[in-house]
Amino acid sequence: MSDLQQLYQEVIIDHGRCPRNCRELPDANRVAEGHNPLCGDEVKIYLRVENDVVVEASFTGTGCAISTASASILTEEVKGKSVEEALNLVRRFREAMTSVRSMDEDMGRLAAFEGVKGYPMRVKCATLAWHTLHAALENRSEKATSE
Ligand code: ZN
Repeated sequence: MSDLQQLYQEVIIDHGRCPRNCRELPDANRVAEGHNPLCGDEVKIYLRVENDVVVEASFTGTGCAISTASASILTEEVKGKSVEEALNLVRRFREAMTSVRSMDEDMGRLAAFEGVKGYPMRVKCATLAWHTLHAALENRSEKATSE
């Protein structure tokens, strides 16, 4: 394993074990739930959007380390972004996870999920929170799935 892969794996393990922003957000004004039937992952994303900017983001849920780490990193990444920037990041991450091409360097910590790409089942774990974020950003209330 290369040093970079090792580092990526540590990021996922760290966020999987000790997720950030893992709590309900009482003043959230965008909420969506997601479910990955293949693995049993459940996630709920809470956003506080003011003047088209995500000022606060959190999640709750139960799932495997990859889905938890993905939700945890997501909440840190979208905070402070405009709704449009966040939607753009959703699109880029989902595209990157299904592309054979390596992730762009500006994806930052999201590139930690590069190592998951070889495992289609795990890709669904990694993208679940992002599908759910997409639904929350667009104010859709139906449950998002990883399918
Ligand atoms: Zn999973």
